[in-house]
Amino acid sequence: MTNNPLRNIPSVNELLDKPSLKQLVDKVSHNVVVSEVRSFLDNLRSDVQQKTSEMRVPTASELADKIAQWIVSDQRPRLRPVINATGVLLHTGLGRSPLAEEALQEALAVASGYSSLEVDLESGERSQRNQSVERLLIELTSGEAAFVVNNNAGATLLTLAALAGGKEVVVSRGHLVEIGGSYRLPDVMEASGARLREVGTTNKTRLSDYERAVGEMTGALLRVHPSNYVIRGFTEQASLAELIELGQRVDVPVIDDIGSGALTDLAPLGLTDEPMARDSLRAGADVVLFSGDKLLGGPQCGIAVGKRKYIERLMKHPLARALRVDKLTLAALHATLKLYRDPAQAMARVPLLALASTSLENLTNRAQRLAPQLEACAAIASAEVIEDTACLGGGSVPTQELPTRCIALRPVDGSVNQLAQALRTGQHAVFGRIQQDRLLLDLRTVFPKQDAELIEAVQALSR
Ligand SMILES: *Cc1c(COP(=O)(O)O)cnc(C)c1O
Repeated sequence: MTNNPLRNIPSVNELLDKPSLKQLVDKVSHNVVVSEVRSFLDNLRSDVQQKTSEMRVPTASELADKIAQWIVSDQRPRLRPVINATGVLLHTGLGRSPLAEEALQEALAVASGYSSLEVDLESGERSQRNQSVERLLIELTSGEAAFVVNNNAGATLLTLAALAGGKEVVVSRGHLVEIGGSYRLPDVMEASGARLREVGTTNKTRLSDYERAVGEMTGALLRVHPSNYVIRGFTEQASLAELIELGQRVDVPVIDDIGSGALTDLAPLGLTDEPMARDSLRAGADVVLFSGDKLLGGPQCGIAVGKRKYIERLMKHPLARALRVDKLTLAALHATLKLYRDPAQAMARVPLLALASTSLENLTNRAQRLAPQLEACAAIASAEVIEDTACLGGGSVPTQELPTRCIALRPVDGSVNQLAQALRTGQHAVFGRIQQDRLLLDLRTVFPKQDAELIEAVQALSR
């Protein structure tokens, strides 16, 4: 008669009596622990049934410890802070732009109670939730009106639906962009109910191409900033001024999707190709679209600024309600925009701009201080300061890079990929970039206050 291993599996109550799980009942909750123990035991039973003969069932204490570990790691949020040492400033996977302290405070203030989201404090009457940020957006971009929605994809969808639904939108073939996995302009266009009218070729689109396409059916002319690619060589693209002149001549709005939406001139940082909403609007664009969490450095949102008659059509469209932003976003955006009233202040207080404008001298000093401490860690064979280039990423300025300093790590044993994984899954969740069989920690995207955490993270690997 063979011994049935299923009989050796302890009961739920037996496990709950073990110290490691008993402790957790107080910390987590009785229900959570019991349901986790049950599902662990179910899995174990089916494992045992599949490989009956040779499997040793762990003791009750071993099992309790294992389940306790599992519960603890399951309690940690999946969405949690990480250290971005990739050198990609606008990393969509890592949440794009970090928020300014001012933005956090303003969001916190309206988050924990009621707020004047849609009431006018003077009159007590109902008001538009966008009004608080609209005034600042008008001031900073010199548009006539502004509207904020969930993201730039949403702003594009709403604008096309409201201004050109059922009509044609004329776009250059060189502007049919894909930004990261799920944003493709032709798909957004289709969803909006507007019809795409492609003109020109990938590398050349002249004003005459647009002129031939406009007619009765035209709802808008759309220009899109190619945020994550450049077309070089034998190229030509009708200028914004030419499109605006054509738009006025045939009386259709010109929509300019500038992508990143820098609100201050970034040329001093060496980033010279970023279009600014203000320039577009002053040139006469009717609606300018951009993201809130790219170069603006605010919360995720999409901003439409432009002529009042067009922005009002966006506001009245049914999609406006579906795409509207909440009070937290509005509060964070308002506080971020306020910083831009003084460009020097924005450069210092908007985290993204602070990182981008950190001097090389600062990065070099920190790298030289960190390298020997990292090399002293048991898991690290060598840590060398190297010169390299960081980039904005996140669909921005592929051709424009920022000088940076990195610490190049080689592991004592195991591969560089294993080192990278251990750091990602470790205490501080550090993300670096692998280059020539070394793991680079790029200080361009690491906040100085995180330097100590970098050391801790690498030290923890050795234990
Ligand atoms: C990033 C980008 C988008 C999409 O913006 P989201 O805010 O991510 O929705 C659209 N158009 C351009 C040109 C972009 O660069």
